[in-house]
Amino acid sequence: METPGLAGAGLLAAALCLGLSLWMRKISGEIRGRERQRLGLWLAPAAGEGEGAAAGGGLSPPVTGGLRPALLVIAHPDDECMFFAPAAVRLVGCGVPVRVLCLSAGNFYNQGEIRKKELLESCGALGISLSHITVLDHRDLPDHPRVQWDRDLVSSLILRYIQSHHIGLVLTFDEGGVSGHVNHIAVYYAVRKLCSERKLPVGCRVLVLESTNIIRKYISILDLPISWLRPHDMIYILSSEEYQQARVSNSFCVLCYFLFYILFYPPCCVLEKYSHSNLHYIP
Ligand SMILES: [Zn+2]
Repeated sequence: METPGLAGAGLLAAALCLGLSLWMRKISGEIRGRERQRLGLWLAPAAGEGEGAAAGGGLSPPVTGGLRPALLVIAHPDDECMFFAPAAVRLVGCGVPVRVLCLSAGNFYNQGEIRKKELLESCGALGISLSHITVLDHRDLPDHPRVQWDRDLVSSLILRYIQSHHIGLVLTFDEGGVSGHVNHIAVYYAVRKLCSERKLPVGCRVLVLESTNIIRKYISILDLPISWLRPHDMIYILSSEEYQQARVSNSFCVLCYFLFYILFYPPCCVLEKYSHSNLHYIP
């Protein structure tokens, strides 16, 4: 008889989801506490640098003002909501000023102006101030999957931004570029160069976003236990309200949505792991 078998499988799946949900609820408080404390330690300004610095470096929630900004370094408009939404939402929620440095206008399909506008709208949905968004649109850094960006040029542009805005935390791609795009990977190696040559200001930390295989990418929240068990320096897991915020941010990126979700990954758009959680580590 098939019916009892199906019912058993359904019950098992329901029990699994319930268990996962209870487990997430249990650990989310611990994660958020550690996340806030670590951000407080990392981003508290040096003595005398600003108002509201946390005594002893640690912060109790909610994080108060006076923190140094965090910077998302991305290659194209839409990267911020497709890949970094959980980190951006959580950082903003912790009271960290978040800035975005986008190295190209995303003009591969001659839609650069539209994508720049989408970037502003999606950042607005993530809670990022419009005055904190910079699109460089440098002529030598075109949005192109077969153009290798000059590492020295990219690293010098990023360093100039970090220095002029007193950035305390940089978030960017890892060597896999999440989607494997060469422009994403170029950003990673430029930041990596700054780290290895010790050019970053004292106390400025770098976190890179873990690229995962295609299976982990599309098993949605089922990936959370795997992410949790993997070595990491920061993990951002969104609540259902925060997840909705990330989805709203995604909804502004119409062009990327059409290209990547509808054309290439039609069944997966609501399962995309990077909309639920981000796992970062120090390179
Ligand atoms: Zn991109």
